[in-house]
Amino acid sequence: MESGTRSDVLIAGASVAGLTTARTLRDEGFPGTITMIGDEDALPYDRPPLSKQILTGKWDVEESALCSEADLDRLGVRLLLGTAAVSLDLPGRVVTTASGGELRYGTLVVTTGTSARRPAYGAGLGGVHLLRTRADATALRGDLATARHAVVAGAGVLGSEIAAALREIGVAVTLVGRSRHLRLGLAGDLLSPLIGRLHRANGVDLRLGEEVAGLRGDDRVSAVVLSGGDVIETDFVVAAIGCVPNTGWLTSSGLDVSDGVVCDLAGRAAPGVFAAGDVAAWTDPRTGVPVRVEHQLNAAEQARLVAGTIATGTTPTAPPVPFFWSELFGTRIQVYGHGDGDGTSLDTIAGDAGSGRFVAAVQRDGIVTGIVGWNMPRDFRAARAHVGRPAAELSRL
Ligand SMILES: Cc1cc2nc3c(=O)[nH]c(=O)nc-3n(C[C@H](O)[C@H](O)[C@H](O)COP(=O)(O)OP(=O)(O)OC[C@H]3O[C@@H](n4cnc5c(N)ncnc54)[C@H](O)[C@@H]3O)c2cc1C
Repeated sequence: MESGTRSDVLIAGASVAGLTTARTLRDEGFPGTITMIGDEDALPYDRPPLSKQILTGKWDVEESALCSEADLDRLGVRLLLGTAAVSLDLPGRVVTTASGGELRYGTLVVTTGTSARRPAYGAGLGGVHLLRTRADATALRGDLATARHAVVAGAGVLGSEIAAALREIGVAVTLVGRSRHLRLGLAGDLLSPLIGRLHRANGVDLRLGEEVAGLRGDDRVSAVVLSGGDVIETDFVVAAIGCVPNTGWLTSSGLDVSDGVVCDLAGRAAPGVFAAGDVAAWTDPRTGVPVRVEHQLNAAEQARLVAGTIATGTTPTAPPVPFFWSELFGTRIQVYGHGDGDGTSLDTIAGDAGSGRFVAAVQRDGIVTGIVGWNMPRDFRAARAHVGRPAAELSRL
């Protein structure tokens, strides 16, 4: 693309939030020019299968594609792959790319997502993996052909998903977590005992409250040393220790990027600039606090709202209620709203935890803040209407 070319909408970040922005703009009848840039080489793809169907070998990486080139042509979206934004001139409305190109825009939508946090250990050592991109998944699958034992570091949802997928294909797994609790997305640590039970029942060696203190091995990792002193022999390590928002290119722009791109309650970061998805911190109107949510459906929903605002001028009055799902050992776990924070409690309103199927309401100060579904998708859907309503109105489904 020529330096200085102007697009009516420039989308920086070519993944679920970026693609959903472009699609919704066209659905809403937006007639202007749209350019989307992405620093990866692949067409937009879905990340959730990386730790599920792709890790277990049920899918090839290509099956996670979210669109084809023909789809983008039909949408009239110009996509520049392998193109990283490196800076933003806010008053001049220009994004500069790594090759020195200048992309002018009328409206910018920032959808640059997050990157996997790198651990302090393992630099230069083979067999130490992250899992955020297709390239990461391909590298990890390459190690699985001969591997018998893995150490997964991280007690969050990704660590649990990777442990579950590896157990499914017969790899012995030690799951190490600094926290004493297993956290699961929007449910925080409320489900930790249940998830711990699932892991143990499926043979995962859980080492909670411990950290990876160091690695052994010459050119490849051969063992992990835990903070408690135990040494675990392993064929590879996967570090799933959180994400960092991709805002490095915005640090000198004048935007507030203290934790992601800080936005108002409609995703606006500055005049002519919006942000959506994992990188965006939309202000919660109830608390006035910007919140970043790292979940797929939230990324898509924010992108739809931003595109609607750009195309029609209608501004949403509240951010979307976050919605998250995961799958562990064949158990479908869904969370709508928030389950995290002090003073929350969980009340079962359908099924029961002992039977492996239930729906529960999370409440704080007498208000339902979230709904958790555990292998009960239909009842979960019905219960979502309770979020934001008094807990006194809850009854068994
Ligand atoms: C393995 C895995 C499993 C997951 N499973 C689930 C799940 O089960 N349920 C769920 O709700 N969520 C899940 N998620 C989270 C979900 O994938 C994210 O919420 C979603 O991908 C966010 O989309 P996004 O478009 O905001 O950002 P991203 O998907 O992070 O995409 C951002 C894109 O922008 C690119 N980029 C970054 N910087 C620049 C730059 N300077 N210039 C140009 N391009 C740039 C990035 O390379 C990337 O391609 C999972 C994530 C992973 C990694």
